[in-house]
Amino acid sequence: MTDLRFRGAVSPLSRAPGGATLRRPDQKLPRSVDALVARLRPEAPLHCIRPATIEGAARSFLAAFPGETLYAVKCNPEPAVLRALWRGGVRRFDCASEAEVRLVRNMFPDAAIHFMHPVKSRGAIREAWQRQGVRDFVLDSAEELAKLREETGGGEGLGLVVRLALPKGGAMYDLSGKFGAAPADAVALLRAARPHAQKLGVSFHVGSQCLDPSAYSRAIALAAAVIREAGVAVDLLDVGGGFPVAYPDVVPPPLPAFMAAIRQAVAAEGLSGLALWAEPGRALVAAGTSVVLQVQHRRGDALFVNDGVYGALSDAGAPGFRFPVRLLRDSAAPLVACSFFGPTCDSADHMKGPFLLPGDVAEGDWIEVGQLGAYGASLRTAFNGFDRAGIAEVADPPLLETPGYELGKAA
Ligand SMILES: *Cc1c(COP(=O)(O)O)cnc(C)c1O
Repeated sequence: MTDLRFRGAVSPLSRAPGGATLRRPDQKLPRSVDALVARLRPEAPLHCIRPATIEGAARSFLAAFPGETLYAVKCNPEPAVLRALWRGGVRRFDCASEAEVRLVRNMFPDAAIHFMHPVKSRGAIREAWQRQGVRDFVLDSAEELAKLREETGGGEGLGLVVRLALPKGGAMYDLSGKFGAAPADAVALLRAARPHAQKLGVSFHVGSQCLDPSAYSRAIALAAAVIREAGVAVDLLDVGGGFPVAYPDVVPPPLPAFMAAIRQAVAAEGLSGLALWAEPGRALVAAGTSVVLQVQHRRGDALFVNDGVYGALSDAGAPGFRFPVRLLRDSAAPLVACSFFGPTCDSADHMKGPFLLPGDVAEGDWIEVGQLGAYGASLRTAFNGFDRAGIAEVADPPLLETPGYELGKAA
């Protein structure tokens, strides 16, 4: 025992065993999911990235949002995804760890990187500040402010963004419990941070897959009250992420409804002079990846498939998201409501769906599951040894369209 080792995690997929064989650049692979599966007959989950869809979603969002768009890297850090976002015009990235900062900096030397995790290690702050050119940091406590001041050595050019806690709102994932300063603490933090910040901001996050545009209006009103109370000049307002996409049982209000709510609230609260930022994750990348599964066993209407909640389908487990599915062969059989069991030995590796598939679905069939680009690949684990997955880029349209993203569709 002489040296200390750090072990890498599974994602991004480019480093996954097995993935490499499917992305050899000399290998001319078909650009449609059906042809790809016919050629490869994959027994491991096959992630099908749709660069044109991701690029289009980025263009739509950038065109609709009245400010700067920061992509939340944690949502999907796959390099092919990041490249598609860049082609779609994304130049700013919301990173939450040293590894995310490094990944983005290595890929895009000119990107603006914002370190938006309210609790950072001192080493991560130093690395970001000294070596990776990061200038903007989020905080939600006086202790973090002290850390940032110390580790940036006084911080010429420092941007400080105070994360405001929100009351529990209308999002499917509520994030109000962990981060953010209560309004009175945020007031004190803004006052304390002002002398040390070249740029001072307020941020919040309404929670992921937020279906209610008025959640943004309420949060903006709260931010405005905090800013007024603080009585110091504030330069920017960051409305966070949370913008929703369609799932089989969810048709969200269209993107312009969210933008209208944000514009109106900003104007009504007298915040029009502030720069506006947003940190979308899901909205930019959800439609951009599907995963092709293989059925290994059928028991009643439960299908034992080769990926599950410890793989790319964690949202289909306990959170119970439904995803669009399609059988990869012709069948005239009427649809039945199926559930999935994943490959691990844990009985929690179960996805109740229902996933509507032709009644003759059987062992050996391939099923494409759509809308997995957000928090799918990025949440994979190697539990039980089931971390093999392939990755390929396809030109297929997404399995589901989300209203408001038509604008950016590739011409
Ligand atoms: C996760 C996260 C995001 C992205 O959220 P989505 O719901 O994917 O848009 C943005 N900002 C913060 C602070 C986050 O934690």
